[in-house]
Formats: sequence, C-alpha cells, structure tokens
Amino acid sequence: MSRGAAGPSSPGEVAAPPRFAGALHHVGGAFGPSLGGGRFETRSPATDELLAEVAEGRPEDVDRAVTAARRAFEEGPWPRMRPADRAAALRRVAEAIEARGEEIVRLECLDTGLPIAQARGQAARAAENFRFFADAVTHLETEAYPVGDRFLNYVVRKPVGVAALITPWNTPFMLETWKVAPCLAAGNTCVLKPAEWSPLSAVKLAEAIAEADLPPGVFNLVHGIGEVAGAALVAHPGVRLVSFTGETTTGKEIVRSGAATLKRFSLELGGKSPVVVFADADLDRAVDAVIFGAFSLNGERCTAGSRLLVEEAVYDDVLARVAERTAAIRCGDPLDPATELGPLIHPRHWESVRGHVEAGVAEGARLLVGGDRPPDLPGSNYLAATLFAGVRPEMRVFQEEIFGPVLCATPFRDEEEAVRLANGVRYGLAAYVWTSDLQRAHRVAGAVDAGMVWLNSHNVRDLRTPFGGAKDSGIGREGGRFSFDFYCELETVHTALGDHPIPRIGLPQATGR
Ligand code: NAD
Repeated sequence: MSRGAAGPSSPGEVAAPPRFAGALHHVGGAFGPSLGGGRFETRSPATDELLAEVAEGRPEDVDRAVTAARRAFEEGPWPRMRPADRAAALRRVAEAIEARGEEIVRLECLDTGLPIAQARGQAARAAENFRFFADAVTHLETEAYPVGDRFLNYVVRKPVGVAALITPWNTPFMLETWKVAPCLAAGNTCVLKPAEWSPLSAVKLAEAIAEADLPPGVFNLVHGIGEVAGAALVAHPGVRLVSFTGETTTGKEIVRSGAATLKRFSLELGGKSPVVVFADADLDRAVDAVIFGAFSLNGERCTAGSRLLVEEAVYDDVLARVAERTAAIRCGDPLDPATELGPLIHPRHWESVRGHVEAGVAEGARLLVGGDRPPDLPGSNYLAATLFAGVRPEMRVFQEEIFGPVLCATPFRDEEEAVRLANGVRYGLAAYVWTSDLQRAHRVAGAVDAGMVWLNSHNVRDLRTPFGGAKDSGIGREGGRFSFDFYCELETVHTALGDHPIPRIGLPQATGR
C-alpha cells in the first residue's frame, strides 16, 4: 500500500520537510522510490505550499517499469484471462475508487486547484470509466467472413503489449482512468506517467488497483518530468502503444521520438473550440452553456468553448448577459464548495495565460471583464474570469489555445461566415452550435472541422461515442469500442474448409528425353 500521497502542510511550513513520505512509483505490484533516489516537489496552486515530494523517474526507473509490464504481458495471466474475469477485476477497481472517493477528490483539488464542486463529478466519472470498459469488453464482437464452402475467415482481437499512458495535469484522475481502463480491459499491461504538476491522485489509482488484486506488473506508475521520464517511456523498445493526452507540440515530439521503434499512437491534443450562437437560439440556455463551457474546470479544459461566435443581431444582447455572469463568477479556495473558479495550476501557467490577456489587449481586443488577479485573494495563481469582445480572427487570442478562464467573443453576419470563423484555426477538437433551426444545426455540424459537435447542448459525454479531434487536435479516437480499435491488434485467421487449388511450383523439370 502507498506511503505516498498527500495533504497540505499547514500554513507557514513551506520550508519544513513534508509531513508525507512522498508520492512513490508503483512498479511490479510494489510502491517504491526512484532507483537513484531523486525527487521533485508538487505545490499547492492555491497557496504555493509544499504538498508532497514525488519520486522523480529517470530512464532506469522507466526501464524497470517497462520490464515489469513486459513480464506481466508475456508470462502473467492477464492477457490470457477470459474477458469476463478481467472485467470483474476492473469492477473491483471501480469499487476501490469509490471507497476512497472523497480522499481522491480532496487530493485532486489540492494538487490541481479544481473547484471541489466540479471535481466531484470527475472522480465519479473515473469509477464509471472502469465499469464502462469492463462491460464493453465482455460485449466485444468480432467478424467472420465466410467464403462459400471453401473458407471461413474470421478476425480476433488480441492485446498488443505494453502501453505507455501519458497524461496532462488538467483533470488528471479522470483522464488517467480514461486510458488505463480500456487498455487493461483489452488485456494489455501499462506504464502510466502522470503530469509532473499534478501527480498525487495517480497514487490513489495505484492503491485502488493494488487493492483490486490485479496481477503484479499489469499496472505500473512512474512519476517524472516529461522530457526525461516521458521521453524515455516513448523511446523504450519494449513499449508497443502510446496513448498521449497533452499539448500539440508535445504530441509532435512524441511521434518523432516513437518513430524509431514504430509505435502505435493515439494523440488527444489541444483545442480552441467555437461556440456558435445563432439569433434564433434559446439564448438563456445558450448563455448558461457558454459560461459553464468556458469557465468550468478553471478553463483548463481541452474541450472548453473558448471562442464565442454570435450572430450580429443578438451579439450585444448575448455579450451583455455573458459579461454580467462572467463578472459574477466566484473565484476562490478550491476546497470551498461555493467556489466556481479556482487558481490556475502553476505560476508558469498563470504567466502564460496572463501573457495571452496582454496580447489580446495589445492587438486591440476589448477587455470587458477580468484579465488579472482578483484583488481579494491571497494566492498568486488566481485569475478572474476574463471576457474579450471584438476579437478578430488574426489575433493570437482567437488562434492560440490559452487553457485558462479566458473567453473571446466575435460577431458573425451569416451561416457562411460562422462556419468560416469556426474553422479558421488549426485546432478541431469540439464545436458547440446553438440554433432552433434543425436543418441549419445539422448543416453547420457537418461543415465544422471538429472531432465532436454538440447541438443545443453543453459538453455532455456519451462514453460509447468516439472522443478525439481533427486537424492539430489529435490523431485517432478513443471511447466505447473505438478504444479497442486502438488497444487491440486485429488478427485475421483464414481457414480452408476443403482442398482448394494450390498453384504448384518447384516441381522437378521434365527432361523431354
Ligand atoms: P503537456 O504536453 O505539457 O504534457 C502532457 C504530458 O506529457 C505530461 O505528463 C508531461 O510530463 C508529458 N511530456 C512532456 N514532454 C514530453 C516528452 N518530450 N515526451 C514524453 N512525454 C512528455 O500538456 P499539459 O500542459 O500537461 O496539458 C495541457 C494540454 O493538454 C492542453 O493543450 C490541452 O488541450 C491538452 N488536453 C487535451 C485533451 C484531449 O482529450 N484532446 C484532454 C486534456 C488536455
């Protein structure tokens, strides 16, 4: 069981040794420190207090974890078990997550700054991910291709091998389970490398998996810095699959470094998703969704509706309503149930988001609300919910993923311009369309470049559907049976049912004498 994980040190103790032994790796069924003893710190986004020291994985730690995962894959029972037995083990993981649900939620809020009221949903989703993929794997079907009475050809799904699962710092626990559950359900083994800015809740996942009694080495956890531990994992010849969620630039680097060993990639990358509001929409509901879509999860959300495109006829009205609500968003302590917007994850990220705000002002966008630290909060990572109006497509705030609580509004004249604006960025993750015209809703859904579109809805996930992005937002889809397309190898078995003709070559030559 873990000696890791954390709670806050009390105020004023920042320089003192942490009260916790630290967050450890979990390799081959046991928690332990790095081979070289290295550690890094994780600090509270709200107060900058030291939360825990975390084992810092180096290439030798990654190698140990991959070796454990390979042994579990090649010699252990997991890939050869009946899907129903693997499913039973995954349901035990779901129960173990629920049993420590409150602890996970609290840890997640301390480590990421997510408001607790919103983090609760994330932890519940994590348990659901395990149950969902446990059910899904027992319902997986494969195909047969009969060829009259000559052949019966059929397809089997097999686990691929060791998967590297690399996750970002936003909603870490939910995203980790989103990868681990289908990966293990398919019979693979894995090494999880969580983000260095929010590593703590992954320790609880390792605990839950250990409690569910999965064979040792099926799940391994290695903490560490992306460019060191993550890079070593991607380059490791023992790894066959890489499922990565993070920034587009990191995704490109990962593909480059995994190319030498020809890995299979699933990449869920950045976004700059549009919310298109037509004048005939139910504006009350649209405004609710715009506010939640832009500012929930601190705006640190890949599918955030960060570009608000509004038809000219209702632009002023919608902006006035959105501005009023944005200004009223309650920014504060992530552990306060009344908080709607917590601190940003890290001072470096605060600087990056704030840099975008400054760029927006410099480029002539109109700052209607927010833009800086709220005056009444102690921590330095807080940024008030921010709204820009009059944003033009060539501006950086329109083009670049900010990944913070910043919403940019742009008017449009007609459907054609709305689609052009929606598509005028390099990303294509999600899009949201609000209109009461059914035909237009479907036309626009078809015309936008996005992996996922919501019509008259905020981001409500259906776990059966493919999740992922177009253009620079990623490669591949996970979710439902699509996860198994990534996490399984397809093997086609061709079976002769009779004596079909076989061309004969290599027979002794007739001499003619
Ligand atoms: P990031 O790319 O900086 O890091 C993601 C992970 O990759 C971390 O674990 C990091 O340690 C690791 N990493 C960094 N460099 C690496 C390297 N060279 N080799 C291997 N691993 C490396 O991303 P982030 O800042 O943690 O997360 C925010 C980004 O994630 C945003 O762009 C956001 O849109 C994206 N995201 C996408 C989705 C999606 O489903 N499309 C979901 C959540 C977040």
